[in-house]
Amino acid sequence: MKLSICHLYPDLLDLYGDRGNILALEARCRWRGIDTEIRRVSLGEDLDFTRADILFIGGGSDREQGILVEDLMRREDNLGKAIDNGLVVLSICGGYQMLGKYYQMMNGQRIEGLGILDVWTIGGEKRLIGNVVVNLDEETLGIPSSKIKSLVGFENHSGKTYLGEGLSPLGKVLSGHGNNGEDSGEGVRYLNVFGTYLHGPLLPKNPHFADLLLELALKRRGDDGYLNDLDDHLEVLAHQAMVTRLLKHG
Ligand code: GLN
Repeated sequence: MKLSICHLYPDLLDLYGDRGNILALEARCRWRGIDTEIRRVSLGEDLDFTRADILFIGGGSDREQGILVEDLMRREDNLGKAIDNGLVVLSICGGYQMLGKYYQMMNGQRIEGLGILDVWTIGGEKRLIGNVVVNLDEETLGIPSSKIKSLVGFENHSGKTYLGEGLSPLGKVLSGHGNNGEDSGEGVRYLNVFGTYLHGPLLPKNPHFADLLLELALKRRGDDGYLNDLDDHLEVLAHQAMVTRLLKHG
C-alpha cells in the first residue's frame, strides 16, 4: 500500500518549518516500511483530493491567505467530497483559518474561507505568540490512555478563532493562548480534519499525533491501522522537557 500525502500551497503556507510535518509523516512511514507518495500542489495546479490519503495545509501571513483564496475556492467541491469521505487533513494556523467560514482581519476586511469547518476568525489587536502546551481531549481524539496526552508547539497569530456549537477543541490550553486566548480551547476536530495553531513544526514535536493521523489514514483504506512502535525516546524527552518547563515558568 502506498499512502498519498498532499501538501497544499507549500510555497505560500510554510511558516516556522511547517514543511517538517510532511517530513515527519514521510519518515515515520518509511521507518515502518510503508510507501508514500508526496504531492505538492499550488496555485493553478490540479489535484483530485478524493484520491489522497492525507492533506496538509500550513500557515502563512494574511497576505498569503489573500493571494490563495481564489484558488482555494475552486477546490471547494472536490475537497468537501473528500473530507465527507474521511480524508485526513492537518491544517495549521492560516490553513486552519481558511477551512473555516471567514477570517476578518483587523482592518475589517474579510477573507472568505471554505466553510468546511464551522469556525470563524476575527483579527485581534494583540498577537497571540509563544510556546503552547495543550492537554489533549482523549474523547475528541480517541487516543489510547497509554499514549502521551499533551501537544506542544509554537503559536503566532493575531486571528482569534471561535468554534461553532457541536465542535470540540483538540484540548485545553495549559500554557499559551490557543484558538482565541479566551476560552482555553486549542484547535478543532471535525470528521478526520484537524485544525490547530501549533507550528514548530507540530508533528516532529508530537510523534503520537503524527501516528494518530497515519492510523486514521490507514484505517480509511481498510487496513487495521496497526503501527509498530518506533524509537521515539528523544522526541518524548524533548516533549516532556518542554511541558515541564512551560508549566513551571510559562
Ligand atoms: N494570518 C493569520 C494570523 O495572524 C495566520 C498566521 C499564521 O499562520 N501563523 O492570524
